[in-house]
Amino acid sequence: MSKIYDVAILGAGPAGLSAGIYAGRSRLDTVIVEKGQDGGQIAITDDIENYPGQGPEGESGPALIARMTAQAAKFGVERVSDVVKEVVVEGPVKKLICGKQTIEAKTLIIATGATAKPIGCKREGEFMGRGVSYCATCDANFFEDFEVYVVGGGDSAIQEALYLTKFARKVTVIHRRDELRAAKSLQERAFANPKIEFMWNTVVEELHGDDILSGMTVKDTKTGELREIKADEEDGMFGLFGFIGYNPKSELVEGKLELENGYIKTDENMHTSVPGVFAAGDIRVKSLRQVITAAADGAIAAVQAEHYIQNQH
Ligand code: NAP
Repeated sequence: MSKIYDVAILGAGPAGLSAGIYAGRSRLDTVIVEKGQDGGQIAITDDIENYPGQGPEGESGPALIARMTAQAAKFGVERVSDVVKEVVVEGPVKKLICGKQTIEAKTLIIATGATAKPIGCKREGEFMGRGVSYCATCDANFFEDFEVYVVGGGDSAIQEALYLTKFARKVTVIHRRDELRAAKSLQERAFANPKIEFMWNTVVEELHGDDILSGMTVKDTKTGELREIKADEEDGMFGLFGFIGYNPKSELVEGKLELENGYIKTDENMHTSVPGVFAAGDIRVKSLRQVITAAADGAIAAVQAEHYIQNQH
């Protein structure tokens, strides 16, 4: 007979790890299943400066997440590195059917997060890793002294545009409206940065180049006019970073849990539409997707999982 855990957590970002810390510390038999590296989106975040308790100089996402991982391990949380293929939510024993094994648990906490949305222009896929990126921390150094373009007008776009100025010669933000959505403090920093320019009311239509990105067609959203942007002749290429939001990673629970625009619906105690199944972090319908809210969700979900298990007896 295989083991039945008290809590199985799907995803090792801030939400999943926080759930692990709280569940482990409550002496619940807990496992976290993750297919990639720990940290989710913050594993690729260069600078986090708004998580309470950090030093004023801030710190990198991986540094913060490494401490969370160590904390979860300290409280005896097991780790499984595997790809979950199917989730069984019904019945008293929930299941994570993975590539190498099946994990059974009395409760499930879904903390799968969200991934970057593609820009949506023609030939985008062809140039991924050949000029197109969704992670400044990962790829900025490839564009040392080159020109880069950033698509989007939210916090991510402006924060990453600022980061890219440390590497690129010039950073142009392409935004579909004439007003940014990003926090005012970020806007002020971007407007004051001499390396950042703005291309308002513009979207990217199509990418060009032989092997690497060397041109693109952009469209004026007001007039419909198309314009060609070419790489500087000496450079022969430029970078294009997309930061236009995220897609929730909820395919595994589609048709099994109640969703809204692909995000899992929960109450304020992280209960999903199925008893014993909880959701935490960016995967859930919520107004603010941040490390602090993900961590808080994880803590609540773990405590609620404990209450659920107690009430089953
Ligand atoms: P976001 O706030 O949803 O912003 C997405 C941006 O992309 C918007 O400006 C949007 O334009 C634009 N956009 C959306 N679809 C587009 C399309 N098809 N073509 C062109 N542009 C498109 O996403 P985010 O910036 O990734 O932020 C997500 C969440 O994380 C937010 O809650 C944010 O506050 C938070 N966050 C916080 C920080 C921080 O605190 N430092 C850092 C990063 C993220 P419109 O404005 O016209 O809709």
